[in-house]
Amino acid sequence: MADFDFDIGIIGGGPAGAAIAAYLAKAGLSCVVFERELFPRPHVGESLVPSSTRVFKELGFLEQMDRAGFPKKYGAGWTSSGIGPVYSNSFDGLEPDCNVNLRFEERAQPGVDRNYTFHVDRGRFDLMLLQHAHNLGAVIYEGVQVQQVDFSEPDHPRICFSIANQTMGTTVRMVVDASGRRTLLGNQLKLRIQDPVFDQYAIHTWFDGYDRGALARDSSQREFIFIHFLPVSNAWVWQIPITETITSIGVVTQKKNFASSRAEREAFFWQCIGSRPELKAGLEAAKRTRPFKSEGDYSYAMKQICGDNFVLVGDAGRFVDPVFSTGVSIALNSARFASHDILLAAEKGDFRKQSFQTFEDTLRRGTKNWYEFISVYYRLNVLFTAFIQDERYRLDVLKLLQGDVYDEDDPEVLRKMKQIVSEVEQNEKHIWHSCLGELTSNAFKPVF
Ligand SMILES: Cc1cc2nc3c(=O)[nH]c(=O)nc-3n(C[C@H](O)[C@H](O)[C@H](O)COP(=O)(O)OP(=O)(O)OC[C@H]3O[C@@H](n4cnc5c(N)ncnc54)[C@H](O)[C@@H]3O)c2cc1C
Repeated sequence: MADFDFDIGIIGGGPAGAAIAAYLAKAGLSCVVFERELFPRPHVGESLVPSSTRVFKELGFLEQMDRAGFPKKYGAGWTSSGIGPVYSNSFDGLEPDCNVNLRFEERAQPGVDRNYTFHVDRGRFDLMLLQHAHNLGAVIYEGVQVQQVDFSEPDHPRICFSIANQTMGTTVRMVVDASGRRTLLGNQLKLRIQDPVFDQYAIHTWFDGYDRGALARDSSQREFIFIHFLPVSNAWVWQIPITETITSIGVVTQKKNFASSRAEREAFFWQCIGSRPELKAGLEAAKRTRPFKSEGDYSYAMKQICGDNFVLVGDAGRFVDPVFSTGVSIALNSARFASHDILLAAEKGDFRKQSFQTFEDTLRRGTKNWYEFISVYYRLNVLFTAFIQDERYRLDVLKLLQGDVYDEDDPEVLRKMKQIVSEVEQNEKHIWHSCLGELTSNAFKPVF
């Protein structure tokens, strides 16, 4: 008889936990998932990027996604009301108001045979994916909160939880921490490093009956995600379709600007929205259907994302600012990469740290690229919109926005962007110098 209860124990049943359970169960490993909540539960992070499609295909889940009726996301738009500065000739064609957009179909993406991805109601989506993992053979316990992992017998980690005030444990060959921003192992093993730069806060809710076409260029963009810049440093609003009539709206801003009390926060939301009168008018004509929810302090890295008998996937391993809708795609792709290494480890019977090195390298490469891209965006926003409108760079920027960030160490387009940021920083007379944001002065220093 085996001296462990399951091959793999997974903490958390969000997209990262459910996807890795699905991969591993599909390949024949015995998996157990512990999820503290009862699904469906609401969750922030509703707009996907197309690199998620590869995971859905591999897991046999894409048809379910197509059938579920989630809004199809064909592209993204960025809007701004202000008149921007006058630009240098090297970026001819830039519109003065910085309104730009992209369609995914403009760049063929290897392994992705759709010109769209999805916006999702996370309550429904997370439940569907977890049920899919269950259908593939994973055992799921909902309403069970893991308290810690006991590594005192290194080859038989014990996942500890309590039910009805009784502490219990399950032994496994290895543990996957997919506990999201609660970062169970990150905290237990003291791996978590707070990001020195990004300390954004968000307040968000859903509206019924908001006219999504109001700020779009034409009706074909109604289902795009929109990022509406606010005329305040580093502040923006997301507009994400959830159903035919419901739209998720969130205001993101720096922590230091964020209101401290709950009552003030609602007023703060409307005050921010008020800086874009056309948006405010649209939202006031709609009906709010959810309480306001705020999230904060949310960028961090980990000193290690794998070790002997454990890996960290999704937000449990790394969180980058969500401005490019990266989180779910990182969660799904980290599950994809980690499951590959875990299956090889299971074949060899060797779950030591070195078995997960490929996963660690790949994930760090991708999240570093995202992080640098996001840093450029906050540091010199106008450069981002300029690159999108420049034929030399548009498709390379689109590649990043499609979520294809894992295959190159230092993509040419990012190198170019960083170089321009550096030139603008050093030249006070540069036409863009006054556009430099304050958020990312350390942006290109190495982080884990
Ligand atoms: C303001 C904001 C906006 C965002 N917008 C987007 C977006 O538009 N697009 C996008 O892709 N991403 C977005 N994200 C990021 C996205 O929310 C996450 O990256 C994504 O949910 C990560 O998935 P995950 O499975 O790693 O974690 P989660 O989805 O958080 O799942 C973790 C699960 O673990 C469970 N859990 C935690 N602790 C325990 C425990 N001790 N025992 C058992 N279970 C436990 C939790 O209940 C949860 O269900 C946003 C994030 C923020 C903060």
